[in-house]
Formats: sequence, C-alpha cells, structure tokens
Amino acid sequence: MILKIVIAPDPILKKIAKPVNKIDEKLKKILMQMLDLMYESNGIGLAAPQVGISKRFFVMDNPEENKLPYFFINPVIIKKSKDISEFAEGCLSVPIQRITIYRPESIELEYLDINGKKQIESFNGLNATCIQHEIDHLNGIIITDYIESKEEYKEVLKKLNETKKKMQKPQ
Ligand SMILES: [Zn+2]
Repeated sequence: MILKIVIAPDPILKKIAKPVNKIDEKLKKILMQMLDLMYESNGIGLAAPQVGISKRFFVMDNPEENKLPYFFINPVIIKKSKDISEFAEGCLSVPIQRITIYRPESIELEYLDINGKKQIESFNGLNATCIQHEIDHLNGIIITDYIESKEEYKEVLKKLNETKKKMQKPQ
C-alpha cells in the first residue's frame, strides 16, 4: 500500500476517526510508512486521516525536543494546562499557509505505544501543540476550522482548491 497525503478540502479530513482495536504487523508497517512520508514532506506530525485512514493514530517527530519518533495509538488528553500558548501552525494537508491557533501550553496524554503498552506522559511547548493538532485530525478538525472571519475562510478555501487542482494535474 502506497500512502499519499490527502489535501483539504476532503471528506475524510472531516470524519471522526474510529479507535484502533488491534495493534498488529499491518498497523506497524503503516506507522513506519507514515513516518517516512512525514520526513519526506518535512512535517513533524502526521495523522492517519491525512493518509486516508479514518483510525485514531498518528506519528510525531520533532528532533529539537525528542530523541526518538513517537507513535500514538488511541490517544486521549486527560489533563490540559490553564496556560495558553500561541503558535502559527502549518499542516501537510493545508499546504498553503500557516494559521495562528491558541491551545493549552501543556497536556497530559494517555495512549498506546507501538507495542500496545499503555502510557501516560506529559508534554509541553511544540510537542503539546503538535499532539493537539494531530488529535484534532482524529476528530475531523483541521487548522482552517480555526479561522474566524468568513471572508478569510473563503479566501483560504479558494486557494486550497486551486492548489489541489495544480497538484492533481499530471506533470
Ligand atoms: Zn495537520
């Protein structure tokens, strides 16, 4: 199976993803392929719906903060800080511009790792922002949903549709 990044707007990016019920070799292969695709695309996170799979898992590697890549399966945020941070977020499915989003500065996350072991871990800074961004993907939310002005949203949607057309044209 060759994975490709889904560009917005696309119905799969609006769907609520289903929990993973089995961590098998097939899933591990997909996670590895997603990691490769994420590196190729210069991203720091990639969620399953972004490669056309409506399931609750994502990969993250943010070399400035972590030694190893992370694999998150069925992640749930169990605590959020009151402190908020602001970040101009990019998204591989929205390849036209960054959008400033305010999110809790730190979170506590419960998830299954690639071996199916339950983990509870705290994250802050860019890791926390990235994890919340990817969990949004699992809930059918993308960065353009945070745009408050209708005019700006229309403008971005138009640009996205044009970009998509260009990308789909054979070279
Ligand atoms: Zn994204």
